[in-house]
Amino acid sequence: MDEHRRLRVAVEAPQHSGLQTALDYTCERMLSPGTLVRVPLGRREVAGVVWPGEPSNEPSLALKSIAQVLQALPPLSPRWCELVEFAAAYYQRGLGEVALSVLPPELRKLDDAQLANRIARLRKAFDKPVDAIAPAARPELSPDQAAALDRLRELSTPGAAPVVLLHGLTGSGKTEVYLRAAEEALASGRQVLVLVPEINLTPQLEARFAERFGSATDTRERPHRIVSLHSGLTPAQRLKNWLAAHLGLADLVLGTRLAVFAPLPRLGLIVVDEEHDPSYKQQEGARYSARDLAVYRGKLEGACVVLGSATPSLESWQRAEQGRYVRLSLASRIGGGALPAVRLVDMNLLPKATGVTSTLSPQLVAALATRLERGEQSLVFLNRRGYAPVLHCTACGWKSGCPNCSAWRVFHKLDRTLRCHHCGFTQAVPRACPDCGNLDIASIGRGTERLEEQLAASLPGARVARIDADSTKLKGALEAQLSAVHAGDVDVLVGTQMIAKGHDFRRITLVAAVSPDSALFSSDFRAPERLFSLLMQAAGRAGRDAAQAARSEMWVQTWHPLHPLYAALRRHDYIAFAASQLKEREMAGLPPFAHLALLRAEARTAEAAKDFLQAAAELAAQIPGASELLIYPAVPTSVARVANVERMQMLVEASSRGALQRVLTPWMAGLPSLRSHHKAVLRWALDVDPLAI
Ligand code: ADP
Ligand code: ZN
Ligand code: ZN
Repeated sequence: MDEHRRLRVAVEAPQHSGLQTALDYTCERMLSPGTLVRVPLGRREVAGVVWPGEPSNEPSLALKSIAQVLQALPPLSPRWCELVEFAAAYYQRGLGEVALSVLPPELRKLDDAQLANRIARLRKAFDKPVDAIAPAARPELSPDQAAALDRLRELSTPGAAPVVLLHGLTGSGKTEVYLRAAEEALASGRQVLVLVPEINLTPQLEARFAERFGSATDTRERPHRIVSLHSGLTPAQRLKNWLAAHLGLADLVLGTRLAVFAPLPRLGLIVVDEEHDPSYKQQEGARYSARDLAVYRGKLEGACVVLGSATPSLESWQRAEQGRYVRLSLASRIGGGALPAVRLVDMNLLPKATGVTSTLSPQLVAALATRLERGEQSLVFLNRRGYAPVLHCTACGWKSGCPNCSAWRVFHKLDRTLRCHHCGFTQAVPRACPDCGNLDIASIGRGTERLEEQLAASLPGARVARIDADSTKLKGALEAQLSAVHAGDVDVLVGTQMIAKGHDFRRITLVAAVSPDSALFSSDFRAPERLFSLLMQAAGRAGRDAAQAARSEMWVQTWHPLHPLYAALRRHDYIAFAASQLKEREMAGLPPFAHLALLRAEARTAEAAKDFLQAAAELAAQIPGASELLIYPAVPTSVARVANVERMQMLVEASSRGALQRVLTPWMAGLPSLRSHHKAVLRWALDVDPLAI
């Protein structure tokens, strides 16, 4: 008999090791599945998690034994392992790769004694009484809110794990519904997970939850503990908060997409706020959708899932239409605040002399000036940062291309540089044309910097501020700028879509989209959906204060004023927009009516990348079930060359998830075998349910 027990261990190994499943190791004693360990792998020692399931029965001569056991940490639950296993299988990544990548990085650095120490300190800290904050008064529920919560209560019978799509405009009181639903889950001793799309939005929401739950409501109770989990935390803080969740010390976890993997022993409710937001999709490594995993996790854990949005993703909307999700609607804004009137400026009607080159129509400038006189704030957004997207020479036609990428370098006027937004290559603006020496170099198009300049010039005396990725690079800069807006020290706020999302600006009565048209004709089939949701959200920024709502306006400058998207926007009619988009998607055979995966390959030459993808397509064709798939020819990605690497992609389409998954798994397992004939390929990656194609 073998005196050593055999165990399966999910080990940390990169994708290209081809290691998809758990490996067998031996150990002198029994270890529960979910135990964190260190094991030898090749010549290294790596982190691993003891995995549920039977080890293989192969002869054990060569098996290595576990090097270290981190027994201070209670084992991760079988349900957590199941979630990770599902994610790895569905998104076609290695089991150990996914398992270890979603644990706090700091966990890998500590030995058992250090970990025990941290845990003891944490327990002690949580034992200490917290400073009591005066509990915030709960508002009287609106009839819509009360109805939604009643329905939610009805659905959440023991054992049921309903998925609810909470549809309501910005300001309709969705967050209050989350708070009440959380209150009930907490009261029954369960934990709550709240996901938000962006780190920037966590402090605001955290404050609201803390205000409600951070204090004891009567003397017997202890205040509920709230922790956040996102990539902006220091490694030590992230470990601490993660441990608090895992040990059941924290009652409420608020975080970005990575928090969907937080171990929560008593999970009872998952809220996904702004569920349509593209940030829920991880864009590297395991390209998972935290929203979709949240829905899966709810089923696993028997937890209720609430997906909230003013403009739900078409995927979620369609599921609600089919009755797979329960749709609950909040029809009006709290306080009866009217929605801003939408004004379309037909750019075709501008006098030609100013029409083509000017960013700002005279009508919009006049409207901004009126706001300024009345002491109200405006928000103007444009989705391109920098001063101008490209510089060019009027004599020879030279343009500021990036030598490493198939993209233009953007002109940043403040520091007079040309910067590539893809590879980062930055140079000072040349004094004269590098090709012909001509001194007359002009900028084409516009970015936020130029818009800021133009606004300042057209509105003398206005205090104009800009918020975009450039202006907020320094730590704390965004917070400082936002508080200047809140304090009323800014008249006109200029920025990218960053400012259109989530922030609760009370004094803004005018929101303007300066140049949103490009999304109407984008090759990306989701561009209209994203534009509509952005504009609806931006409109929601205006008139949050009921007193000002009646005067609030949303301005859109467009060359296509008759486009159906703008027609739906004028009526604030998401439902009509969704219906028309779904019809188009169905006719075109696009998601949610088809299921997609995208295989991308990178190589030094486009030919090498293309050859590899072609060979991959041939390989796929031999897999049983491949006839149910449609594999498109390889094409260059939208920016084909980045940092001197050529990128090609190949789309795979199927009518069902099952049909797609049946082929993807053996296919991905077979790809490494192509490598010997395609040495020029640097890497490849599969994106299941890609957001953009
Ligand atoms: P959403 O999340 O849909 O944007 P919120 O829940 O943030 O909406 O509500 C908008 C505003 O209305 C907030 O200031 C909130 O405090 C307030 N509010 C929400 N529900 C009520 C209510 N039932 N009574 C009074 N005020 C409310
Ligand atoms: Zn020139
Ligand atoms: Zn570049």
